[in-house]
Formats: sequence, C-alpha cells, structure tokens
Amino acid sequence: MSAALSLESLKAQAERLSFRSQAFIDGRFVDAADGRTFECISPIDGRVLAKVAACDAADVDRAVTAARRAFEDGRWRNKAPGERKRILLRFAELIEQHATELALLETLDMGKPIRDSANIDIPAVIKCIRWYAEAIDKVYDEIAPTPPDALAMITREPLGVVGAVVPWNFPLLMAAWKIAPALATGNSMVVKPAEQSPLSAIRAAELASEAGVPDGVLNVVPGFGETAGQALGRHMDVDCIAFTGSAEVGKYFLRYAGESNMKRVSLECGGKTPNIVMADAPDLDAAATAAAWGIFFNQGEVCNAGSRLLVEEPIKDVLLEKIAAVAKKIRIGDPLDPATQMGAIVDDTQLERILGYIEEGRKEGARLALGGRRILSETGGYYVEPTVFDNVANDMKIAQEEIFGPVLATITFKDPDEAIRIGNDTIFGLAAAVWTRDINKALRAARALRAGSVWINCFDAGDITTPFGGFKQSGFGRDKSLHAMEKYTEIKTTWIQID
Ligand code: NAP
Ligand code: MG
Repeated sequence: MSAALSLESLKAQAERLSFRSQAFIDGRFVDAADGRTFECISPIDGRVLAKVAACDAADVDRAVTAARRAFEDGRWRNKAPGERKRILLRFAELIEQHATELALLETLDMGKPIRDSANIDIPAVIKCIRWYAEAIDKVYDEIAPTPPDALAMITREPLGVVGAVVPWNFPLLMAAWKIAPALATGNSMVVKPAEQSPLSAIRAAELASEAGVPDGVLNVVPGFGETAGQALGRHMDVDCIAFTGSAEVGKYFLRYAGESNMKRVSLECGGKTPNIVMADAPDLDAAATAAAWGIFFNQGEVCNAGSRLLVEEPIKDVLLEKIAAVAKKIRIGDPLDPATQMGAIVDDTQLERILGYIEEGRKEGARLALGGRRILSETGGYYVEPTVFDNVANDMKIAQEEIFGPVLATITFKDPDEAIRIGNDTIFGLAAAVWTRDINKALRAARALRAGSVWINCFDAGDITTPFGGFKQSGFGRDKSLHAMEKYTEIKTTWIQID
C-alpha cells in the first residue's frame, strides 16, 4: 500500500466505489433469474454496501452451461499454454492496477484491516496468478518406460468444468488459489463466493474478461451455500468441486458428489493448529510475537490460526506475559485506518459464536488471562478483544472446536512426547509449529505431527511454491505449488504399438 494512503483518502475512495453486484455469467453481468438479491453488509458499521444477486439452481445451471460450452469448443483449453499464460499475466496486471479498489472491497466487505488487504491479500492474489501463468508453459508430460515395441504417453488433461466454493476470511485469495491453477490448466470455472464477501470475486471476473479470458470460462455466481453452493455440488455437469471452508460443509460436498455424478472433490477445511513452544525455544520473544500474531492476525479468522498454544510448563508464565505484552499493543478499530492491526469480525453471527466460545471456556474452568469482551459496539461494528485462556485441558471445547476468532487456548506439557500426543489429539491436521533449538527434537516432532504443514521456529511461513492443505478432517488435496494442478487435471495413458 502506498504510504500516501491516509485514512481520509481511503474513506474518500471507499465512498466513491461502485460495487458490481450481479452474477458474472458467459462474459457479462446478469441478475439472478428470479430477480432476487441479498444484502451485502459491512461489518465495520453494519451498513448495506450493495444488494447482490442471490443466485439459485437456475443461475448455477446457466453458468455451468456457459462453462461447458466454452470448454467443449476449446476456446480456452485449446489455446497454446503460452497464450493462456499471456492472458493470465494480463489478468494479474489488471488486478495490480486495481489493487487499492480490490483491497477496499475486501476490507469493507469482511472487516479485515486495509493494511492487510492491501499489503498481504491482494499482492498474494497477484503473485498466485502470475506464478501459475508462468508455470503453465514449463510443465511437461511423461513417457512411460515401456518395451521398445511401444510408446506410452502419460498426459494431463483439464477436467472440464470446475466449481469453486470459497469462504470469507481471505475472499479473493482463496478464490485465486483455485482460479489460477484451474484456468492455467485449461478448465472452465464457476465460482461461488461466500455470502459475506462476494464483491471482490465479482469484480475480478470482470477484470479477467477484460484481460482476454474468453466468455464462459470464468463465471461467478454469488448466493447462499444451501442454494447456489449445493446446486453446484449436485450439478451433473460439474466435473470437480474445489472447496475451502468448514469441515462440516466439506462433508456435504462429499455427499453431493456421491449422490450426483461422482465429481472430483478437494477440501481445504478447518484446523486447530498446535503451536508447541519447548523450554529450549531459541528466542522466546520471537516465539511470543509469533504466537500472538498466529492467533490475532485477521481477527483469528484463519484456518491455520495457532489456536492451541502448547507450552512446556517451566516457561508458561513468562511466555504468557510476553504474549500479553504483544497483544496489548495491537491497534484494534476502524479497518479503513492504515494504522489498524485488527479489524472487525465478519458478521454478527460469527461475533456471537466467538463470544459463546469464550463463555463456554469460562464455564469449563479455563482461566481467562486476557481480553474476552466485545468492544467498540458504539460503532455498529463487530469487534472482539485479543483473548487468551490459560489452564486449558485439551478435551475442552475451546481446545477441540474451531472458534475462528481471536481466542488462544493455552495448554501445558511436561515433555516432547506429551506435546506431540496433545498436538495430534484433534480431528484436524492442517498445520503445526514447534519451537526448539534442538534439531533432533524438532525433526522428531515434525515427523510425528499429523499435519499438512509443520513450521520449525516460525509460524505461518510459506509462499506460493509450497503446497498447503490438510491431513485428517482438515481435508485433502493441496492448494498452491505445482501440486495444485493435480486437482484440476486427469491423467490419460495413450499406448501406441510400434510395428
Ligand atoms: P463455510 O460456512 O463452510 O462456507 C464455505 C463456503 O461453503 C461458502 O461459500 C458457503 O456459502 C458455502 N456453503 C455453506 N453451506 C453450504 C451448503 N450447505 N452447501 C454448499 N455450500 C455451502 O465456511 P466459512 O464460514 O465461509 O469459512 C470459515 C471456514 O473456512 C473455517 O472452517 C476455516 O478453517 C475454513 N478455511 C479453510 C482454509 C484452508 O485452506 N484449509 C482456508 C480458509 C478458510 P455461504 O457463505 O453463502 O453460506
Ligand atoms: Mg460482507
């Protein structure tokens, strides 16, 4: 974000924004077939930003039909990879040109600080699209080691019509993690953004079209999960669903696939990440800062949030003091203020859910060590203090269930084996972190922890080159890296007999 952007200029820009609020199908904006809309509300002040098309099964069908037509006539998949690359690079460039606008859409729509949407979300979206664009004319297929009288080619083909159903915590980034590899590999897409945050995906589809992505290749159908999401999941002509969201809804998609056309499903679901700090951590200040931001970043609305702090008994008090010191300095408030570090919770339902868990933690006997209250309610927005529980047992609800808010559960352990046992004692397996200066302890823990990402002496590190996804009920399939392309392609064997 340019340093020149002040609160005043951002507010002025926000006032001038015009919101695209229709569905984007077959290269143009359309209303829902039945004309219905839903209110898109800003969690900053409860204001209605736009009335957005409430797409239903008929609209999903229209979008899938357009996507299918585009796939079958080859207008996208039959372009040379270098040509898809050129268009996707142009798409990334247009997002960059509209970066402040898109960052404002994210912040207004779901309440994250503008410094994050402008410095983290949108740059990561641009990088993601560029990376897959650059990759697609550099990946090769395979030739099998057959006897000399045969040639067997193992090639990857696009699946066809990919449905992407995404959450609200990083609205455009979660969509980009699917859109970039799926489009790069030649598929057509129908994207269903979360009802809480549809605006950036709709605008991005328009920019993709402007960049030269042909009509019908990238469609966006805003609407509700039970209607638009379910219709996509059950559609007989959708080849694949790439889902990011809760484990509960992820399981619905498995059912939808089983009860319809056995479409491929990949699931990026929730987590309850253990952040394990051993007494020989190399730098307790660094560990405390990472532990605090590991749970308070993005208001705690992060799938891999370090929501369980597992700390070796002798250092617990000093670590909690350091975490509290970091937390107390966090600036919470108006997400449009470039100085704000923690913004608003996405909506009133999520706010109540978080407060409910805090109450539950108290009732179950955990000690509230910091925060715990709703604040700034006079603004009309939904803000929760950074909250830390001490004396948590791993079988308590606040240690087992994904809260998706700024609530840390502190659990102590006596030795590394106990830390690993507690760390793995969860239905989830998205990520884990270990802090120790002992390389043997670190590597033993990294091997034993059942998680898709393990961080050693850092937290939430990684970039577009590394796969991201879960073990256990955190789902299956990976976003990011070349591995993501596996989700959007089928393997074909062509065996040729040589005379
Ligand atoms: P969610 O409630 O599961 O919703 C995710 C998406 O599914 C939304 O687009 C939602 O639509 C749709 N949906 C809801 N009910 C549906 C149904 N019955 N049928 C079909 N679709 C349905 O999750 P969320 O609250 O938006 O996001 C938070 C969750 O996402 C957390 O569990 C978090 O851990 C997870 N997440 C995971 C990752 C990862 O990479 N592993 C990344 C980010 C977030 P509506 O919103 O319109 O209802
Ligand atoms: Mg919203």
